[in-house]
Amino acid sequence: MSDDAVGTTEVDVVVIGGGPAGLSAALNLGRARASVVVVDTGRPRNAATLRSHGFLTRDGIPPLELRKLARTELAAYPNVRLFDRTAVSGLLEPATGDGPRFIAALDGRGRGIPPALSTRSVLIATGLRETLPDVPSLRAYYGMSIFSCAACDAWELRDRTLALIGETPDLAARARLIARWTDRLTVFTNGSDAVDTVEEAELAASGIIVERRRIDDLEGERGDVTAVRLADGNRIAIDGGFVRPQWHPTLDFAAGLGLERDEFGNLMTDRSGRTSVPGVYAAGDAAAPGPQQLIVAAGQGARAAAVIVQDLVGVRTAH
Ligand SMILES: Cc1cc2nc3c(=O)[nH]c(=O)nc-3n(C[C@H](O)[C@H](O)[C@H](O)COP(=O)(O)OP(=O)(O)OC[C@H]3O[C@@H](n4cnc5c(N)ncnc54)[C@H](O)[C@@H]3O)c2cc1C
Repeated sequence: MSDDAVGTTEVDVVVIGGGPAGLSAALNLGRARASVVVVDTGRPRNAATLRSHGFLTRDGIPPLELRKLARTELAAYPNVRLFDRTAVSGLLEPATGDGPRFIAALDGRGRGIPPALSTRSVLIATGLRETLPDVPSLRAYYGMSIFSCAACDAWELRDRTLALIGETPDLAARARLIARWTDRLTVFTNGSDAVDTVEEAELAASGIIVERRRIDDLEGERGDVTAVRLADGNRIAIDGGFVRPQWHPTLDFAAGLGLERDEFGNLMTDRSGRTSVPGVYAAGDAAAPGPQQLIVAAGQGARAAAVIVQDLVGVRTAH
């Protein structure tokens, strides 16, 4: 790691985002003797929840605890630095004629944080932002008794009376999945046409009810939902549920690079995490769709790290 006269620190890899994807990449890059800076605004997607499930050896761990453990491990590597409460606000690729080279502009006020980093490789691990259906108190139950990821949280809700709330065309498919865990499921479309009549009939054949009336709000106490109150005043009792958020990658900082995105705005990568711009990689929820889980994000980060190291030394690989 070296600092030049204008305060731009030179590193091998800038990792943008300090969730499981970014931290796992940083660990593996650090072990490969790369100089690494992880830049993190500290707003993980799962901040709303108290327990994370499905991460081998850490099933049920509080999300912040997982991050803390990862950071403790990274502290053993002097070639890895972490800039907390700091955003990458811009990413440019000045023409150098000397292979990929990027300038990452930083927006942070901590001690020793330079205004910019110069790097040969960038890993984008910035996760996703979520928009929930417009139900006033839904956020208060999200991560407590209403969740979005069945693989992550349905076990704890098994055999209960559940709601699935959403407005997207994949709602019927998600309902069929959630029905693995309960035979008392109502799908709330909140007045939208997310479920068509053919799907409704198929769901009905499996005992799943479709409720098309608009939702006024949820009822419950201290994060424990007890009912969905409809706009016409009717109440439907539930004791847990799922919501289908809309997911948005937040990649404005990289707008100037022209990275290829899919129809949903996700970054397109090859299976090792290389984006369409040489030297820029992506891992975790920010990369193309797949299971949105901590261990998957961490695995993708580790895989991207291996490929970054190989690309840095010019080793051609089969992946
Ligand atoms: C309510 C809820 C419960 C969940 N429960 C589980 C569970 O039980 N088990 C499970 O496996 N998964 C669970 N998940 C999913 C899991 O949280 C994600 O799959 C995982 O966090 C993805 O990791 P990531 O590293 O890609 O992104 P994140 O963990 O979201 O980390 C991205 C990081 O990048 C930072 N960042 C964003 N933009 C910038 C920028 N410009 N500059 C610097 N930093 C930036 C953010 O602040 C954040 O810290 C849950 C999700 C939610 C919403």
